[in-house]
Amino acid sequence: MKTINIAIDGPAGAGKSSLAKALASKLSYTYIDTGALYRAVAYKALSLRISVCNNEKIIDMLENTDISFRHINGLQRVYVDGEDVSGKIRTNEISSAASTVSAIPEVRSFLLGLQRDIASKENIVMDGRDIGTVVLPSADIKIFLTASSKDRASRRYEEQKDTSSSVSYEEILATMIQRDKNDSERSVAPLRPADDAVILDNSGFEPQQTIDAALRIIENKINVI
Ligand code: C5P
Repeated sequence: MKTINIAIDGPAGAGKSSLAKALASKLSYTYIDTGALYRAVAYKALSLRISVCNNEKIIDMLENTDISFRHINGLQRVYVDGEDVSGKIRTNEISSAASTVSAIPEVRSFLLGLQRDIASKENIVMDGRDIGTVVLPSADIKIFLTASSKDRASRRYEEQKDTSSSVSYEEILATMIQRDKNDSERSVAPLRPADDAVILDNSGFEPQQTIDAALRIIENKINVI
């Protein structure tokens, strides 16, 4: 059976995961958050006190690393060597470390099969940085979701300001700008829209406006598929 794949790429904080979750729920597809896989690699390196700049050690570490994900009650859980790390990978420290390890070609190829495998089995909405360009170049629908860096940093700030690991707006903005720079300038699978992606800039949008705009893109495409 041919599965339908929807790819959502874009910079940090554009609202990819909220949009992808909403679309997956509306269409009854499975949502796959690929950033969690890079975060899981970073988590393991940090817990073993391996510097994320030490490519050689990270590559060695991968030989004994098992990363997997499962869906429980519609929610994705990520496991590193059998440990559920889903709740532990959302810190600012892991965000930066994930961006650093994601530039290592061996890390990307290690995670590629896992992403393609699930996309071949189910109808999915997958979000990341290189889904439309590298992971699923034949995806049925590709959306590149973006917004101004200030909008993106304020959204992240609002999301985390009441949590125990909250950081200032300025710190979030600085990390985000650095992460976008790393992600866009790396030589393997840099963050960029696929040639056939539809670019959706949601600066100033309410969440529902982004969902409505994406649904219009999907309806237009599905009519011509
Ligand atoms: O999307 P999220 O913020 O969880 O991603 C964490 C980091 O993982 C990103 O900054 C990026 O460096 C990396 N990533 C990637 N390719 C993807 C998804 C995430 O390089 N498909």
